[in-house]
Parts: sequence; C-alpha cells; structure tokens
Amino acid sequence: MSCRELERLFVSGAPGAEASAHRRTCAECARIGADADQTRSLVEGLAAPVWSPALRRTLFEIPRQTVSCEGADGLLAAALDEERRLLETIDAYRRVFAGRDPYARLAWWNAGGYLIQFPDHVVRPVAAPPLPVVPVAVPLLAASAPPAGHAPWLPPGPLGPPGGQR
Ligand SMILES: [Zn+2]
Repeated sequence: MSCRELERLFVSGAPGAEASAHRRTCAECARIGADADQTRSLVEGLAAPVWSPALRRTLFEIPRQTVSCEGADGLLAAALDEERRLLETIDAYRRVFAGRDPYARLAWWNAGGYLIQFPDHVVRPVAAPPLPVVPVAVPLLAASAPPAGHAPWLPPGPLGPPGGQR
C-alpha cells in the first residue's frame, strides 16, 4: 500500500512546508517528491504559445490532418485501388506499343533472365543486365559512307564532294 499523504496535502491545499516536512520522514514520498521536483524543473521553461487567429486555425486543422485507426483502413484501401488503377493504365499503354516497333525483337522475361529473339529469328537466353532495361538484339551492319554533299573533307573521288571530282 502506498502512502498518499502528499496527495492528501496537495488536494487540501496545505502549504508546501507541510509536504516538505512529510517528505523528510517518508522514504516513498521523498522519491515521489523528487520526481515531482524534476518534473516541475522540466516544465517551468515551457510557455504557452501566443494566442492568435492563425494558431486557432492551426489547432482546428489538426483533426482534419490526422487519421484515426478506423479511417486508416479506408485510406489504405483507396491507396491500393489507386496503385492498381495506375498499374492497369501502364499495362494498357504498354499493350498499345508492344509489337509496333518493327526493329524491336520479341523478348520474354523468364525466371531471372530474358529470352530474346535475335535477328536470325533464333530465341536465345540473355542474362538480365544490372540496369532495369530489356536488352535489344540488333544486327551489326557495316558503316556506310556519308552522302558526298555532306563530306567535303573526303578526297576527290567517288565518295568525295561533287566539286572535287575533276
Ligand atoms: Zn508518505
């Protein structure tokens, strides 16, 4: 059973000297009194904010900006619905572009790697690159010469500029 003398003295409005006298004679109330002294020293530096219409508006905004546990379920469900809708939109856009690029080769994701149809129409496994991109197989062609009108630095000849051929 705890001593409630400090509480009784506080409620009765007794002078602080009576509580101090009791604390000197009761070990339990001495500990409780020390905690109360520490709490008092911590909060004595606190001051209430200056009241203003802006503070009033801010305080009234708090309930509108917080979420109760009951409301969180609905917000999470709405967020999941939004994410699902966005994924479906992205998938719909991908379906529009899939197969439209004549240079893009067919590629499939297959258990940690790609299966890609190469220009020779053979499907080969390709390891996933470190970057999140699909590797694209393209035929390597010999570099062609630039048009003669765009290569004035070339010597006269069949590949040189038209004016330099004579
Ligand atoms: Zn006591």
